[in-house]
Amino acid sequence: MQYRVDPTNGQRISALGLGCMRFPGFALGRPDAKAADAIIARAVERGINYLDTAYLYPGNEQCVGASLERLGLRDRVLLATKFPHGSCKRASDFDRFFDEQLRRLRTDHVDYYLIHNVTSPSQWERLCALGIEGWIDRCKKEGRIGRIGFSYHGSAGDFPTMLDAFKWDFCQIQYNYLNEHYQAGTAGLKAAAARGMAVFVMEPLLGGRLAQHLPPDASRILERAATPERPTPAAWALSWVWNHPEVTMLLSGMASPEQVDENARVAETALPGSFGVDEQRTIEQVVEVFQRFERVPCTGCNYCMPCPQGINIPGCFSAYNASYAHGWFTGVSQYFTASAIRSGHPKLATNCVRCGACMRHCPQHIEIPDRLDDVRRRLTPGPVGAALKLLARR
Ligand code: SF4
Ligand code: SF4
Repeated sequence: MQYRVDPTNGQRISALGLGCMRFPGFALGRPDAKAADAIIARAVERGINYLDTAYLYPGNEQCVGASLERLGLRDRVLLATKFPHGSCKRASDFDRFFDEQLRRLRTDHVDYYLIHNVTSPSQWERLCALGIEGWIDRCKKEGRIGRIGFSYHGSAGDFPTMLDAFKWDFCQIQYNYLNEHYQAGTAGLKAAAARGMAVFVMEPLLGGRLAQHLPPDASRILERAATPERPTPAAWALSWVWNHPEVTMLLSGMASPEQVDENARVAETALPGSFGVDEQRTIEQVVEVFQRFERVPCTGCNYCMPCPQGINIPGCFSAYNASYAHGWFTGVSQYFTASAIRSGHPKLATNCVRCGACMRHCPQHIEIPDRLDDVRRRLTPGPVGAALKLLARR
């Protein structure tokens, strides 16, 4: 395993961290305990020493805590989880949530604690007005929190304000070869590193979109350029992130021991500066292909779910994008599967009542009801749409 160093305390961190959100069963909110044990055990065996979860990932903290206890591995890993700041109404909520998290995780401390999904500095200002800075100082002194940071899904313009808003130890940003100029982006990565902070990267594979089902032209480019160090699209995407020396650690949501093995192999050789001119050109060509096909930048994170109308929002967007990348019939077939059409009570894009509940949670800032309208227009045009609408209302 390749290790990088947290510049704030000299801690060695595996360049590959285990994102626990996508354990099998995550979409149903019931992560599979046996699968979690196997993935965590393999991760530690391969040298991974950083595990990431969050209060808001349904059932996930409990699953990770129980796994670590069963496997006896709590002391072998740096454990990270996140504070659900949107649910915090008063100062007493800081301890209420954190104590619950410690209970769920079956531990007495969290090594890396993040304010979860910050999209605007005003969210931090609200927490400051409730006294969060003093609470963090106290928890750090008591050893209940090791390092403090935030995960970020806001604009590039607001990011420096967030960086300077507190004495952060680290930040976590979305970063991959399609998002160089999106959210914090490359400028944000460099700005955080220049301030001496550790920088952790999430979504290096954009929810799997840079690993599987790429537009055929993009797959062909990467197949032609494949090397033993970068044999797959996923290996290319991960290596691209690790090529940046400012990146301390990259989180990948691995869903099987085999994925752990695959990513750990790539991590061994993907050192900073390992991309030359040819590799950069390959990625530029792939980006050009994606830009031709991508319509909705959904990562499948499920933060917007459940929709009160039962719509499978990420499933709709995945099908919609597939209809451009892989052809209309592929998209329609995926859409019918995602909408449970064979159940006789499908939940289609047309079921959206524009309540807006989903949009508040989307880290990609997608105008979900409008984009669902696009899904409807493209995938169920004319009489097909009218017939399905009747069926959906039965
Ligand atoms: S706006 Fe539409 S998709 Fe979003 S939660 Fe409401 S009904 Fe569901
Ligand atoms: S629409 Fe947004 S919140 Fe929902 S799965 Fe996609 S990226 Fe995540």
